[in-house]
Amino acid sequence: MFWLLLLSLLGVSIISAFRGIRLVPWTAAMTAVLSGFAIFTDVSTLAIVILSVLFAVVAIPLNHLPIRRRWLSDPFLDIYRKMLPSLSETEQIALDAGTVGWEGELFAGNPNWDSLLGQHWPELTPAEQAFVDGPVKALCDMLDPWKNAHELADLPAEVWDFLKQHRFFGMIIPTNYGGLGFSAIAHRAVLQKVSSVCPIAGTTIAVPNSLGPAELLVHYGTQEQKDHYLPRLASGEDIPCFGLTGPTAGSDATSIPDTGIVCKGKYKGKTVIGIRLNFDKRYITLAPVATLVGLAFKLYDPDGLVGTRHDLGISLALVPRETPGVEIGKSHMPLGIPFSNGPIRGKDVFVPLDALVGGIDRAGDGWRMLIELLSVGRGITLPSSSSGGTKLCSLATGAYARIRKQFNLPIGRFEGVEEALARIAGHTYAISALSRMTAAAVDMGEKPAVPSAIAKYHATEMARRVMTDAMDIHGGKGIIMGPRNYLGRGWMGIPIWITVEGANILTRSMMIFGQGAIRCHPYILNEMAAARLDDKTRGLEAFDRELFGHIGYSIGNAVRSMLLGLSLARFAAVPSDRKTAKYYRKLTRYSAALAFASDVAMLTLGGKLKHKEHLTGRLGDVLSHLYICSAMLKRFEMQGRPAADQPILAWAFHDAIYKMQTALANVVDNFPNRALRILLAVIIFPLGRHEKQPGDRLVHKVAQLLLSPSATRDRLTDGVFISSSASNPIGLLEIALPRVIATEPLERRLSKAQSAGELDADNWQNQLEEAVSKSIISSAEATELKAVRQMVTEIIAVDEFESSVLRMGASGEVEPVAEQAA
Ligand SMILES: Cc1cc2nc3c(=O)[nH]c(=O)nc-3n(C[C@H](O)[C@H](O)[C@H](O)COP(=O)(O)OP(=O)(O)OC[C@H]3O[C@@H](n4cnc5c(N)ncnc54)[C@H](O)[C@@H]3O)c2cc1C
Repeated sequence: MFWLLLLSLLGVSIISAFRGIRLVPWTAAMTAVLSGFAIFTDVSTLAIVILSVLFAVVAIPLNHLPIRRRWLSDPFLDIYRKMLPSLSETEQIALDAGTVGWEGELFAGNPNWDSLLGQHWPELTPAEQAFVDGPVKALCDMLDPWKNAHELADLPAEVWDFLKQHRFFGMIIPTNYGGLGFSAIAHRAVLQKVSSVCPIAGTTIAVPNSLGPAELLVHYGTQEQKDHYLPRLASGEDIPCFGLTGPTAGSDATSIPDTGIVCKGKYKGKTVIGIRLNFDKRYITLAPVATLVGLAFKLYDPDGLVGTRHDLGISLALVPRETPGVEIGKSHMPLGIPFSNGPIRGKDVFVPLDALVGGIDRAGDGWRMLIELLSVGRGITLPSSSSGGTKLCSLATGAYARIRKQFNLPIGRFEGVEEALARIAGHTYAISALSRMTAAAVDMGEKPAVPSAIAKYHATEMARRVMTDAMDIHGGKGIIMGPRNYLGRGWMGIPIWITVEGANILTRSMMIFGQGAIRCHPYILNEMAAARLDDKTRGLEAFDRELFGHIGYSIGNAVRSMLLGLSLARFAAVPSDRKTAKYYRKLTRYSAALAFASDVAMLTLGGKLKHKEHLTGRLGDVLSHLYICSAMLKRFEMQGRPAADQPILAWAFHDAIYKMQTALANVVDNFPNRALRILLAVIIFPLGRHEKQPGDRLVHKVAQLLLSPSATRDRLTDGVFISSSASNPIGLLEIALPRVIATEPLERRLSKAQSAGELDADNWQNQLEEAVSKSIISSAEATELKAVRQMVTEIIAVDEFESSVLRMGASGEVEPVAEQAA
């Protein structure tokens, strides 16, 4: 009976922790168990008394607030204040930007899957769909990626005119200013389609619709600025660019040395108070063709002309190109995708105060504005482009792997190629789901700062992998440049996606977990706020409340993590779908493990954690893969759980879960403290590490799905542009694929006949005639085979040029670095 009593007390505590039951009900339940055993069983009185005293020693201080605050919370608050990481103003701004959505559930260790599945899944409006099916499709038909990249290093004039005429530059500008006023998913749909055809056009459209003058004005502009600039930007009368980066300030953008000094100067013949700007920016997209330059700089008011503060901080201004002192003109040459990009410099450029975005009231608010807008934009531009690029890779590589034969077999039938094909399909599925869910979050009113960083990093990294795999499968066909090459430029350009809008290493190591941990944690932000309160009594009350909530939360996550690990999450509350329930279970388990590991890391490393990028990068990976898997499951549900798509979902899911396990295992194995390494290992991996990479049978199934037309292939690649013309290389692949498949039995028949010595013609045309004459195939079959073989010949062909054509342009004069610096 005594052991049963101990077991019951332990059981009550474990169930309470697992279910997140609060202190008072736990105390009541424990008291009830002790009383019940005392009254109804023969457990010795001494044992009951000893256990009751031990319980009282723990329960009374925890439940009695004055004792708890005086003896527990107050001393801990002193330690906490010393451990509290110092947050710079820019870090604080980054933390304040954005809202917390589904990622908060994942981070907190007990995700409510019904809430994810119940979330609205917006669709395109009829007007948005008409735009995608109309002007976007027409644009794609006009684009000639080879000519644009190789001959023009730009878009032709008629494409620029078309973009302006159909207001492609005004997708995010409200309709009352002449823009298209599109939702985020429409914005995504346009970028996805255009980027799948021509990266130069994709970038040219993306930039005016992302962080820059239009978006800044929509959110922060004065009415006068909106009325003046937005209609001009929507119609393309003004082409914008935005300059933040300079030679010394890249990732560390708040260190920009560019200055604006408030002073008096001449403007349109009058003396006015304005700003004298000196700046040196580089890598600025659209700068060479821009008419309106958005600029970030540090604003100073040494003479107190606009207030009492001398150092106002980072501010943003809009500077028309023709303003005296602005120097634009030369171009950089971005790797592989020569879109318009170049430096902008300015020496003593004088602009009036109303050039400041939002007017003088917004002086010094520049960093906040940029970070708030980036929390949205990073989730759309590059994830959508990655989605378009990888869908095209899936479509084209699958078709090519079926059409291209070596050793008398389609190359897609070789197991080595299957591995790469499965990765292409799985990652394409994941990227599309990730980008769709992040855009949907924006449309639901979120400012998804953490999902945007996850989407930017993982969509571009997975796209890098997909493009490399696609290139490998295409062999020399992917390498030889020319109008027939539909992959090379995308592959060359991928480092651009990796670098812009927050370079990827920085995004992974600092931003995803750095922001995610503090923003998504249910207690940390409140604890920090309480610890910083000047009113000590209120501070202690608030801190005590948060601290004990936090302790309960941590114990709960430790217990949940261990029990879910031991039971393989069989008791987790998950949706009941037979095929996917096991996926939700695994995610619930890893969510609890992440919550526990994060708490241990934050509690033991405090402010030092932000410099431990090995740890933060890996913890961020776990959060990211949880989010990506959620997005895939949501997509699968919203598409009506198509059974035929299940292998792709399964591949992508196992790949992500395996990466999640690897990241967590590396956190555990490399945790700085040995005792904590053991504790983490026992709680997170009580039965060891069991996740496996997708198995060979699954890889085979997924790869085969790319090799023939099907509803699954259509769903995987929906939203990309497929030309209906056989003169377009992608259009030809799609036309040829079903006919190649249909004639495969004929090819086999010919091959057999040849092996049997029945055919001995010396080339394929003669072979067809011989096969007809020997009644191996009919003449109709020979006609079809001839047509298909001609298409295949064209598909595997690469381009050839006169050597003189390959000498591209003049050598160009490059200024020595020293002169630039002078
Ligand atoms: C084609 C192109 C277009 C661009 N368009 C624009 C534009 O329109 N407007 C604009 O203002 N800027 C633009 N940029 C600039 C772009 O945003 C920067 O290149 C980017 O911020 C990185 O800066 P950097 O190149 O100087 O690299 P660096 O800052 O020197 O970084 C180098 C490497 O160090 C890593 N790193 C740096 N700090 C950390 C850290 N704390 N932790 C971990 N890793 C770290 C980075 O991730 C990166 O991998 C463009 C750049 C390119 C190449």
